[in-house]
Amino acid sequence: MVPPVTANAGKSDSTGEIVIGAVDIGGTKIAVGMVDDSGKVLSRLESPTDAAGGYASGLARMIDMLRRTSKDAGVDFSGIGIGSTGVVYPGSGAFGDVDLLPGWQGNNPVQDLAREFKVAVALENDADASALGEAGWGAGKMKSRLVYVTVGTGIGGGIILDGQLYRGVDMAHPEISHHVIDPSGPDCSCGYRGCWESLATGPAMAAWFNANAAGDRRSAENLSAAQVCQLAKRGDELATRAVERETYYLGLGLANLINLFVPDVIVLGGSVMKSAVLFLDGIRKVIRQGCRFVPYEKTELALASLGEDANLIGAARVWHHRYKQGVGQPS
Ligand SMILES: [Zn+2]
Repeated sequence: MVPPVTANAGKSDSTGEIVIGAVDIGGTKIAVGMVDDSGKVLSRLESPTDAAGGYASGLARMIDMLRRTSKDAGVDFSGIGIGSTGVVYPGSGAFGDVDLLPGWQGNNPVQDLAREFKVAVALENDADASALGEAGWGAGKMKSRLVYVTVGTGIGGGIILDGQLYRGVDMAHPEISHHVIDPSGPDCSCGYRGCWESLATGPAMAAWFNANAAGDRRSAENLSAAQVCQLAKRGDELATRAVERETYYLGLGLANLINLFVPDVIVLGGSVMKSAVLFLDGIRKVIRQGCRFVPYEKTELALASLGEDANLIGAARVWHHRYKQGVGQPS
C-alpha cells in the first residue's frame, strides 16, 4: 500500500494540514471524528456500538459518521486510523475473537473503509492507539521510551520503544495487565491467580472496600472506586486503607514495568487515575523499594493529557505512526 503522505488537498481545509478520520471502536460506543495533524479534534460524533446488530450495521454507521464529521468540519480526510477494543490484527486489519464484539470476528474494517473511501487505513488495539496518541501529541511527547497504562474497570497498556510501537510475534499486543503480582491472589480471567488486573483495577479496589465495609457498617451499599476515593479524601479510615492497598498494587505493577523497560516516562490514564493525587506519592515509595538496580528516578510518572477525546486522538495517531513517520510498518 502506498502511504498517502502528501498534504490534504482538501477544498476547505484552510491550513493545508493532513486531516485523519479517526474511529474509536469500544464495547459500548463507536466514536468518529476528524483530527488534524496537531492532534486537535475538529468534529466528532458517536453511536452505540450495538455489537449484537452485526458488523454490517456497525460498518455502515462508521461510514456515515466519517462522511458527516468530514462535512461538519469542512475538511476532507487523507486517511483513516482505527483504535479498537481487542483482539485485533493490525497486519491484516481484521477483528479477532473480541469479547465485546461477538460475531464480528474475521470482519475487516481496514479493507472495507479503504474500499469505501479510497484512502489508506490503519488499525491498532485501543490501548496501543492511546499510547501512540500520548507519545505523539500528549504527555509523552518527545519521549522515545514510553509505557502507557490505563487503570479503570480493567488495566490496559501499550509500549513504545525508540519511537516505535512494540509488538510481539504476529504483531501481537502484549498484555501488561496479566503479569502476576500475588500468586495467592484472586482468580483472573486469563487463567492465573493474582494478576495485576485482578488486584489493581477500580472494581478490585471497590470490591475490597465493600467486602470489608459490610461487617462494620450499617449500610450494605456497594460503593464504586470513585466513591471510595472521595471517602478517602475526606479521611474515612477504611477508604484510606483501600487506597493504601490500591497504591501498593499499582506501585508493584509499575515497579515491574520500570525494572523491565526503564522507560523515560510511564503515562497513566483511566478513571482510577482521576484520583491520582491519592496514589502517586505511595506509588513512588513502592518503586523506590525495589527498583534500585535501574535508574528508576529518571522514569517520569505523568498523567495522560489528551482528555476525554484521548481514544479518538489516539486512533488518528495510529495512521500517522503507520504511514506518515515511515516507521511501524507491518513487516
Ligand atoms: Zn490475568
